[in-house]
Formats: sequence, C-alpha cells, structure tokens
Amino acid sequence: MILVTGGAGFIGSNFVLDWLAQSDETVINLDALTYAGNRENLNSLDGNSRHVFVEGNIGDSKLVTKLLEQYQPRAVINFAAESHVDRSIHGPEDFIQTNIVGTFHLLESVRAYWSALPVDAKQDFRFLHVSTDEVYGSLSKDAPAFTETNRYEPNSPYSASKAASDHLVRSYHHTYGLPVLTTNCSNNYGPFHFPEKLIPLMIVNALAGKSLPVYGDGQQIRDWLYVKDHCSAIRRVLEAGKLGEVYNVGGWNEKPNIDIVHTVCALLDEARPRADGKSYREQIITVTDRPGHDRRYAIDASKIERELGWKPAETFDTGIRKTVNWYLENQQWVANVQSGSYRDWVAKNYSER
Ligand code: NAD
Repeated sequence: MILVTGGAGFIGSNFVLDWLAQSDETVINLDALTYAGNRENLNSLDGNSRHVFVEGNIGDSKLVTKLLEQYQPRAVINFAAESHVDRSIHGPEDFIQTNIVGTFHLLESVRAYWSALPVDAKQDFRFLHVSTDEVYGSLSKDAPAFTETNRYEPNSPYSASKAASDHLVRSYHHTYGLPVLTTNCSNNYGPFHFPEKLIPLMIVNALAGKSLPVYGDGQQIRDWLYVKDHCSAIRRVLEAGKLGEVYNVGGWNEKPNIDIVHTVCALLDEARPRADGKSYREQIITVTDRPGHDRRYAIDASKIERELGWKPAETFDTGIRKTVNWYLENQQWVANVQSGSYRDWVAKNYSER
C-alpha cells in the first residue's frame, strides 16, 4: 500500500495510473482538488478497488494521520503542490501555504506515524518528495547542466516555495532520521497536462484558432521529459534510491520554447491541417516576457542513470508526437477542464493574448 498526494494532478494522475497498471499494490490518493486537480484524469479507475480516492489537504494533520493509521502505507509520495509559475507571480500566498506549510504539516504527520512503526516496517518506509529543477535557478547559455550539488538559487515564488519544501524534507532526514528521497525533475509534458502550461496551451489554442502566445524572444531553454518517464524514474528511486539522497531527473532534451512551439505546429499541420491550408505557425504572437523569467534550465541526469540504471524511454520526437495525438483524441477532456474556474482565471490574467 502506498499513499500518493496530489494524485489528481498532471504528474500524480499519470503516476497513479502507471502504478496500478504495473503493481498489485493499492494506492491511497489524497488530493485537495484545487483548480489543477481533476477527478476525470482517473475515470478509467472507476470501480478499481485498489484505488482509494480521498479529497483533502496535505496540511490537514488530523486527516493525514487518520489515513496513515488506517491504511499503514509503506511509502508516501508527495506530488501535491501549487505548480504554475505564472500563478505564483500573480498570487504567491497559496504557494507558501501548500508547498511550504502544507509540506511541513505532512512531514510532521508522517514522522509521527513512522516513529511508531515496528522496527522492520520503520526500516522499509520511504517518504519520496517530488520536486523541480527550477530550485537551481537559471543557467547561462554555456554553463554545465544542473547536478545534485548545484546551489539552490530559486527565482520565482513557485521555485522558492519548492526549494523551501526540499530543505524541510532534507532536514527531517538529518534531524529525525526520516527515510526520505527527493527527485528534482525538468519540465514534464504528456497526457492530462493542464492547458495553462506551454505545450498543451499551444495545442489547444492552435486547434481553437486562437493566438499562440510566446514570451519575449522565445529563446528560454528548458529540458523536457515525457511524463511517463518521470513516473518510471520515481518508481525506480522509490525502489532503489539511497536514503537522504537527491536524484535529478531529466530527458537530455534541451529546447528553446520557440522550437517547441514550431514542433507542435508542424505536428498539427500534419495531423489536423488548417482549413485555409496555412500553417498553425501563422497564429504565433509575441507577448511581454514575464518578470524574473529564467533563461535556461538543464538537468544532468547522469547520477540516476549511473547509480539506479534509469533512462528515459522516449525521445522528444516520440514523446511530443504521443502528446499531440493524445490531445487530438481527448478534446472532451480539454473542453471540460477549460470550463469553470480555469476559464475565469484565463480571462483575468491572459486577456491581452
Ligand atoms: P499539478 O498542479 O498538475 O497538480 C498538483 C495536484 O496537487 C493537483 O491535483 C492539486 O489538486 C493537488 N494539490 C494542490 N494543493 C494541495 C494540497 N494542499 N493538498 C492536497 N493536494 C493538493 O502539478 P504537477 O505538474 O502534476 O506537479 C506535481 C509535482 O511535481 C509538483 O510538486 C511539482 O512541483 C513537481 N514537478 C512538476 C513538473 C512539471 O513539469 N509539471 C516538473 C518537475 C516537478
């Protein structure tokens, strides 16, 4: 039995689906169902008795303690977070509450549970914290990619709040001996990605005939990893990671944002040509760069490959093709997530686009 937090979000739901497909263990899925949490991602699990969904907050110590005592999981995997950089610029408070205060309360509940476990179960227990490469800050064009020993230099309220949570997790290992593992991963893409993030936003806007907003010169470089590869890395770290260690996870796919947008347009041109015969590229527009926008992130994932034998299965070419096809085949999912609070938020914050 494992307890996953944030398992109705983008990566968490992919993880829960993969986990249940690949193992016999039950998953307790604790998610607060914020705007980013979507029960629909888990529709295929309806009637699956190995998936127990609980709506609730990681900061609710009473609830978390009750779940831990009732289900006695052998691991807790923490995906729950506020995760969108733009939102953290417009309103940082939720990021502090969930990513810092929420993680702190979760750690406290887990520590109390773990301390009371019998010796064998105590040794086998793991707390795996899922984090981001954004904690390392921004790289210049020719600097070597981030390794696990890079200094933390977060530049947005999002990355600062994740950095704080990483430090708390580390401190619970060093101070209390809690058996923790941390992964810092680069940008994910794939099914169930909320359409406020670059790749799904471009696909969805292109198909709707809307503009494709690119920040500044579009030369911000990110490393991209297909979400299923992130899930397999987390499973591997959970299985064989050394306690207290940090593992960088990445796809060895550094790309400027504008190249990503061009690739998405080319795939859509092929799969769903525009009625006027023109390329979707015609819809690209430039918008003012966001404040503090990091120029480059690049992950050196050699430690996880060397020590745990993990490598991504997808190249960017295969992963992005699967992703575009998934969005083409799941238009109803897109329509559903675009209703309600998401629509209101976009109207308020992206009205200039
Ligand atoms: P997401 O925003 O899609 O999902 C987050 C989930 O957490 C949602 O289901 C939401 O309802 C839930 N949640 C939020 N606050 C909660 C709370 N207080 N209690 C319980 N549940 C809560 O995020 P994601 O993209 O799936 O990211 C998951 C994790 O992976 C985050 O910790 C993020 O920092 C990290 N990460 C993401 C990426 C990426 O490219 N998306 C890359 C590296 C690391």
